[in-house]
Amino acid sequence: MDLNASVSEIPFVGSYYLFKLKKVGVETIQDLLYHIPSRYENFSLQTNILSTQSGEKVTIKGQITSINLIFTKNGKRLVKAVISDGEGILDITWFNQTYLAKALPPGTWVSLSGKLEVTGSRRTMVSPVYEKISGVGFQVSDRDTIHTGRLVPVYPETSGLSSKWLRSRIANILPKVESQIEEYLPQNLLTGSLLVTLPEAIKMIHFPDNLKEAEIAKRRLAFDEFFKLQLKTLHRKQTWKTKKVAHILDVDQDKVLDFINSLPFSLTSSQVKAVKEILNDLGKPQAMNRLLEGDVGSGKTVVAAIACFIAHQNGFHSAIMAPTQILASQHYKTLQNILSPHGIKVGLIASGQNKKQKESQTGDVVVGTHALLHRAQVFKNVALVVIDEQHRFGVAQRALLSQRGTKAPHVLTMTATPIPRTVALTMYGDLDLSLLDELPRGRVKIKTWVVPPQKRDGAYKWIRERVKNTDEQAFIVCPIIEVSEKETMKSVKAASQEYETLKNKIFPDLKLALLHGRIKSQEKDKIMEEFKSGKTDILVATPVVEVGIDIPNATIMMIEASERFGLAQLHQLRGRVGRGNKQSYCLLMTDSRIPRVLSRLKALERNFSGAKLAEIDLETRGPGEIYGTNQSGFPELKVGDYSDLNLIKAAREAAEKILPQINKYPKIKKLLETKSEIAPN
Ligand code: ADP
Ligand code: MG
Repeated sequence: MDLNASVSEIPFVGSYYLFKLKKVGVETIQDLLYHIPSRYENFSLQTNILSTQSGEKVTIKGQITSINLIFTKNGKRLVKAVISDGEGILDITWFNQTYLAKALPPGTWVSLSGKLEVTGSRRTMVSPVYEKISGVGFQVSDRDTIHTGRLVPVYPETSGLSSKWLRSRIANILPKVESQIEEYLPQNLLTGSLLVTLPEAIKMIHFPDNLKEAEIAKRRLAFDEFFKLQLKTLHRKQTWKTKKVAHILDVDQDKVLDFINSLPFSLTSSQVKAVKEILNDLGKPQAMNRLLEGDVGSGKTVVAAIACFIAHQNGFHSAIMAPTQILASQHYKTLQNILSPHGIKVGLIASGQNKKQKESQTGDVVVGTHALLHRAQVFKNVALVVIDEQHRFGVAQRALLSQRGTKAPHVLTMTATPIPRTVALTMYGDLDLSLLDELPRGRVKIKTWVVPPQKRDGAYKWIRERVKNTDEQAFIVCPIIEVSEKETMKSVKAASQEYETLKNKIFPDLKLALLHGRIKSQEKDKIMEEFKSGKTDILVATPVVEVGIDIPNATIMMIEASERFGLAQLHQLRGRVGRGNKQSYCLLMTDSRIPRVLSRLKALERNFSGAKLAEIDLETRGPGEIYGTNQSGFPELKVGDYSDLNLIKAAREAAEKILPQINKYPKIKKLLETKSEIAPN
C-alpha cells in the first residue's frame, strides 16, 4: 500500500468516514499518519482486580463471565457485565452501548481501562474503555493492546470520528506502510539536533511506550514543521534578493530633513530608525522587502510617506494598497495632507469609479485596495509599493514576486499585527523588519478594566451616561462564536441577536448600528460614515469585521466574552478607540472565574504594547485556548508551538545550513516544490 493512496484503501473506511476524514484534512494514508494526537490517556497501570485501590485509573485484563442487556424503569438501557481475572470479580456497567451484550459474549477475553471503585466487597467500573484480547491465559503481552493498558492517544475532537476508531485504523495501517516513511533529513543533522528518525517519530507519536517517548516524537515532528516553514521563507528571501533588480533611488539627505521638518510634529525615535532603515534599502540594487510593524497609531503612514517622497524625488511613482476601501480613503486623505504641500499629487482609485474617473485619479502616488495589483498601468513607473495589510499579510507580496518586468518595485509591508519574535522568525523570515515600538508623545493611555458579570448593569449605565447627548461614542464587539478566520453565519446571527437585545432592551433611548461582514460594502461604508459623523452612538460589531478607520470620538470599547480572544487581538480591538485626544476606555467583559484566565486578561490593564502582549499571550496560553492563535492571523501549527524558541532556532540554523547546498539533498529540495499545508497564504 502506498502512503499517497486514499484512506479509502484502509479496511472499514467507507464513504461516511471518507467524508468525515476529509473534513479534518485527512485524505491520504500519509495525512492519517500525520493526524497527531492532542493528548494521551494514561491507562498504562495494569493491575489485578483485588489489588486496586478505590478511585484508581487502571487497566484490568480478564474474562467475561456474564453479560446482560437491562432496561431500567425510566426507559434507559444498560449493559451489565461481570468479569473475572482469576482472583477477583468486577462488575461493569455500560450505558447506551447495547450492542456490547452481543459483541462480548461470556468467555470473551477483554482488557478494560477506567476508574475502579470499591464499595465494601464490591468492585465496579462504569463505562470503561474495552478491547478484546486474544485469550492466552491471564498473562497477556503489553504490546497487544491499543486502546487499553498503555498510553492511549486521544485525537482532536471531531463529531463522528472517535479516537478509538482513529486509533484502530492507524494501528491497522501503520505496520503496512511503515517501511515507506522516508527519512529526508541527513543523519548528521539528526544526531546533532538529538532527533529521532521520521519513521520512529510517527510510530511513537501514535503509540508511545511512555510520555517521554511521546515528547521525543513530538519534538521531531515539530522540528520538521519549523524546518519546512523556514526553509521556504529563506528560499523566498533568496529568490527575492537574486531575482528582483530594483530601481536604485538616490536619497538627498537635506531634502529628507526639510520634508521631516515640514511635518506638524517631530518623529519618534523609532520612526527615525525605521526611516533610516528604509532609505538605506531604497538605495540598493535589490528590491527592498521590508515589514514595518507597529501598533495602530504608531505612525506608520508618515514613514511610508517619506519613502514615497524619495521615489518622487527620483522621478518614480508609488502605489499604496489597503485591505479595504474605507482604509484606502483614509490613507488617501492622510497622504494628501502630508505630500501635497511638496507638490506631490496623490490619487485614489476606488471601486465604483468609471474608467474616466479612474484615469483622472492617477497621480504620483496612487492609493487603492489590493485590487490595484491587477491594474498593470498603475505599475508602469512605480518604484515603490506600500502594502497595508492590517491582519493577514503575504498575499500581495507573493503576487508581486511572481510579477514580470525587468525591474521590481521596492516593497514596504505595513502591519499592526504584533508578531512575537518566534513567529517572525518562522513565518516571515524572508522580510526585513522595522519596528515602531512606541506611540507618539501625548497619546493618552486607554483605561482598561476586566469587568465581571455582576458589574455588567453598571457598565451599561456608565456607557449610557458617557455617550448620551455627548459627542462620545462606543463600540460593542460581540463574542467569537466559532473558531474561524472568516466570519461565519453563526457569528453574524449572534451579533444580530445581540444587536436587537441592546437596541430594544438595554439602550432603547440611543442610536445603535450593526456592522458585520455580510453587509454589502456600500452599506458598510454608509454605516461607518454615519458612525464617524456622530449620528450613531454605539456601533455593535462582530469580532472580525474591519473597522480600521479613525473614529476620533469613539472613546469606549466594550468586548464581550473577552476570554475567547488572544491578548494581541484584544489589544488591536482596543486600538480602535483612543484615536483622538480624549480619555478612552476598554471594558473586557468576561463570565470566567478561572484565576489564570482573569490574570491573563488583566495583563491588558497594565500593558499597552502590542508586541509585549503577543509575547505574554504565547507564554500564558494554555491548551484549549486556541482562539488566540487562530484569530491572530498566524498560521496554525499542527505539532509545534510558537513558544518553543529553542526548537525554532535549531530548525532555523538547520535550514540556513542546508539551503546553500540544497542540491546535495534532493529529498529536501523536493519540499521547496510542494505546497506546504501550513504555509501562510
Ligand atoms: P498607523 O498607520 O501606524 O496606525 P498613522 O500613521 O495613521 O498610524 O498615525 C496616526 C496619527 O498619528 C496620525 O494622525 C498621524 O498624523 C499622527 N502621528 C504620526 N506620527 C506622529 C508623531 N511622531 N507625533 C505625533 N503624531 C504623529
Ligand atoms: Mg494606519
